[in-house]
Amino acid sequence: MTQMITCPTCGNGVSTEAETCPQCGHPIAGRKNDLEEWQGKNRKGCLKAILILLTSIALLFLVLMANK
Ligand SMILES: [Zn+2]
Repeated sequence: MTQMITCPTCGNGVSTEAETCPQCGHPIAGRKNDLEEWQGKNRKGCLKAILILLTSIALLFLVLMANK
């Protein structure tokens, strides 16, 4: 049975039986690894966001202290 998945690169609908995305050439075979890699990247992005947030809060505190 042929299923359709969304290409992680261009968002095009691709058959799971296709080896590569017909639109951008992204490899579809082994897409599970791609998904895991993508989730790993997402985790890193989340950590970065938390770091930026903490830095912003620290800066805000510094500004508030300086004004007192
Ligand atoms: Zn694609």
